[in-house]
Amino acid sequence: MAEFTMELNEDQKQVRDWIHGFAADVIRPAAAEWDEREETPWPVIQEAAKVGIYSLDFYAQQFFDPTGLGIPMAMEELFWGDAGIALSIVGTGLAAIGVVANGTEEQIGTWIPQMYGTPDDVKVAAFCSSEPDAGSDVGSMRTRAVYDQAKDEWVLNGTKTWATNGGIANVHIVVAVVDPELGTKGHASFIVPPNTPGLSQGQKFKKHGIRASHTAEVVLEDVRIPGSCLLGGKDKLDERLARTRERAKTGGERVKNAAMATFEASRPAVGAMAVGTARAAYEVALDYAKTRTQFGRPIIDNQGVAFQLADMRTQIDAARLLVWRASWMAVAGKPFTSAEGSMSKLFASETAKKVTAQAVQILGGNGFTREYPVERMHRDSAIYTIFEGTSEIQRLVIARTLSGMPIR
Ligand SMILES: Cc1cc2nc3c(=O)[nH]c(=O)nc-3n(C[C@H](O)[C@H](O)[C@H](O)COP(=O)(O)OP(=O)(O)OC[C@H]3O[C@@H](n4cnc5c(N)ncnc54)[C@H](O)[C@@H]3O)c2cc1C
Repeated sequence: MAEFTMELNEDQKQVRDWIHGFAADVIRPAAAEWDEREETPWPVIQEAAKVGIYSLDFYAQQFFDPTGLGIPMAMEELFWGDAGIALSIVGTGLAAIGVVANGTEEQIGTWIPQMYGTPDDVKVAAFCSSEPDAGSDVGSMRTRAVYDQAKDEWVLNGTKTWATNGGIANVHIVVAVVDPELGTKGHASFIVPPNTPGLSQGQKFKKHGIRASHTAEVVLEDVRIPGSCLLGGKDKLDERLARTRERAKTGGERVKNAAMATFEASRPAVGAMAVGTARAAYEVALDYAKTRTQFGRPIIDNQGVAFQLADMRTQIDAARLLVWRASWMAVAGKPFTSAEGSMSKLFASETAKKVTAQAVQILGGNGFTREYPVERMHRDSAIYTIFEGTSEIQRLVIARTLSGMPIR
């Protein structure tokens, strides 16, 4: 009768402990070095590939967990290890999911293996959507894809920015405008194969946090790719565009809802990353507060410190529950009538920023130095309220969903 449970099952606990072991033994010890080097941690990615954490199989297994908790659990543990390294490990997965979700069987079979490479020769992939003038405002995208019917090729031109693994990826997934009249509904995704002429890396960014993760501009100059590199294929695109043009005349609601549902389902994964970083900083702060002595007693003996830790842990648990709820809703096919996916990303990312700042404070001067990991975690946490939709955009989505009003 009582089927409801908040406990992970035995399989999930095993997987969680396995990922946690990798995060504790391999990722965390390497974190400070790769943060300083500001380079992609290839040896760590290779280690992850050898144990099976860097692979599509790993993603697929977590993705198809019928409770929906596989992905958030994996993200929390990996990002608990270190956010920059973890993003280097999961960045390819984010691009690969796009191919799995929208690609044909043939595209999945051809391109996914090239995105990951092999444990002896690992490769990464990049997902390129953002542009200098199209960040939150995806509708301002300018990168164009034009079909050359005579050659059955697509020609891409434009500049992408902020691409995780951009320029160093073996395979780039590029979102481009195919019909400027249709706004975001006139966009399509393309696979740019390895070593395609015309694709080059622009500026590599020097960042505030997640510095082990490579972020760069990707410049596309007359990049010619075969017709077969349009994700999902041309027939499907033509059908979708025709449907959109038709619906544009009658309101277009269903298309919009489908896109929103996809975002609501993917945002909890970013929330889970934030929970991982927040939990890591909280644990360091708790240990420190119990061992650091001032005025003849551990600093945690002061309510001023202990209550902060109580608040930190409460918010982390609340964030995880929101993430788990939204992840479960996604697999259970529940409609996100209150934008629960956006809620989970908003709350978890703001929590990570707050909790890591409190952790720095609890460690005092030590918290401000690179001798202790909370300084790095605090810098890393700033990304969560920015990428995959800023906190302001999450609030906009939630407010619009709740009110049904076109809030600006
Ligand atoms: C490290 C890193 C990695 C990234 N990886 C990728 C990647 O792999 N692929 C990719 O495509 N993109 C990636 N991004 C891009 C990321 O998704 C964008 O930075 C993000 O969407 C915000 O866009 P923007 O930076 O142009 O900011 P803007 O959109 O210019 O926003 C600036 C500020 O204005 C606010 N704002 C904007 N519009 C509104 C509004 N209507 N109401 C209220 N406030 C508003 C924003 O919330 C923000 O505070 C990455 C970014 C970073 C920093």
